[in-house]
Amino acid sequence: ITQAHLDRIAAVDGAVQAFLHVDTEGALAQAAEVDRKRGAGEQLGPLAGVPLALKDVLTQEGVPTTAGSKILEGWKPPYDSTVVKRLRSAGIVILGKTNMDEFAMGSSTENSAYFTTHNPWDLGRIPGGSGGGSSAAVAAYEAPLAIGTDTGGSIRQPGAFTGTVGVKPTYGGTSRYGLIALASSLDTPGPCARTTLDTALLHEAIAGYDPMDSTSIKQDVPPVVDAARRADVNGLRIGVVKELGGEGYQPGVEARFHESVELLTKLGAEVVEVSCPHFQYALPAYYLILPSEASSNLAKFDAMRYGLRVGDDGVNSAEKVMSLTREAGFGDEVKRRIMLGTHALSSGYYDAYYGQAQKVRTLIQRDFANAYEQVDVLVSPATPTTAFPIGDRADDPIAMYKNDLCTIPVNLAGNAAASFPCGLADEDDLPVGFHVMAPVMRDDLLYQVGSALE
Ligand code: GLN
Repeated sequence: ITQAHLDRIAAVDGAVQAFLHVDTEGALAQAAEVDRKRGAGEQLGPLAGVPLALKDVLTQEGVPTTAGSKILEGWKPPYDSTVVKRLRSAGIVILGKTNMDEFAMGSSTENSAYFTTHNPWDLGRIPGGSGGGSSAAVAAYEAPLAIGTDTGGSIRQPGAFTGTVGVKPTYGGTSRYGLIALASSLDTPGPCARTTLDTALLHEAIAGYDPMDSTSIKQDVPPVVDAARRADVNGLRIGVVKELGGEGYQPGVEARFHESVELLTKLGAEVVEVSCPHFQYALPAYYLILPSEASSNLAKFDAMRYGLRVGDDGVNSAEKVMSLTREAGFGDEVKRRIMLGTHALSSGYYDAYYGQAQKVRTLIQRDFANAYEQVDVLVSPATPTTAFPIGDRADDPIAMYKNDLCTIPVNLAGNAAASFPCGLADEDDLPVGFHVMAPVMRDDLLYQVGSALE
């Protein structure tokens, strides 16, 4: 199976460009190890021997890890992230590292310092981002499973754009240890696959308490696999978020979304409309909180510890080497967010920007809490539009940020959410994502809805 996927990568990745690094030898060695264990009669999990594509933001010992940035080019981490450790103990075979927007900042993979990944549905279009490589690899049958990370939608939005399943677990439900941090209060690793059940099996393999992550939740993993197998929404209360639809949403996206809602009603769910009045402020709050945390997290890329070092000629001062390296090693979007973040955190502006954004975050959390008193899950389209052409929004950061309108409120509140494929839009025959949101540590509800729709 591993060899078949390596062959598939060799055949199509020249066009899709999902992978930054294919670890042929490592993958075959892992597969051989699974075979050996199976031969020795060892008890193996349901995903043993199944290949996976890993977003290049998670460390895997000895395998190049760049987070899509030139500043980390050539860096080989000396340790495995917790996600990778758990993949290994499940016997999952890691095929290689997938392309992404630099430091996970973006919605199209166009911010990768290396190349843009192409959407397998239409090679002229972006696959979404930041984890476009992972979702494209799954959609192009280069891997049946992938891992992404979701800080503002980077698993769900590429899932929607590539017609695959993408799940953002509850914040703290999967470990951040060994994940190169973007915004630590938002970052959440999660699973991608082509079916709801495959995604649930992968979710179960990677989730659970980790003492190495200070915000990890000390509770049992929600019963995601059982929920995916049950595929039952009878009696489930579903809230359609009033604010996530209407003007600015592509008609074909709304049509598929409403059809899915009707289907859920037919299957016995009780559907009501729910208002979340503060969701409209989520995007501006996110684009203050995220750059603030990112500017602090990225301070460690100082040319002394990892990867690139520019201007180290024995004459330049250490400060000069740091600034030359950061100048050469970071792309435009990363620099934009570092400037935004350091400004928002600086004295005299902190209360007006960062402090205010944190208050908005609390209001959004209350919107969710109120909604979950009335319903079990909330639903919306995953994205306002389908995948757009490469280059279309690359020079317009605001247009790019608007991609995340539906996905970002969840990250600010820390609860669970997923995008499930729900058909193709009439205008362009491109995949549409159905977005489901569930309360903290009720990730199982996502799978219940997703598998019922399948
Ligand atoms: N589009 C979001 C951003 O640019 C996605 C971030 C993410 O989830 N990694 O910040």
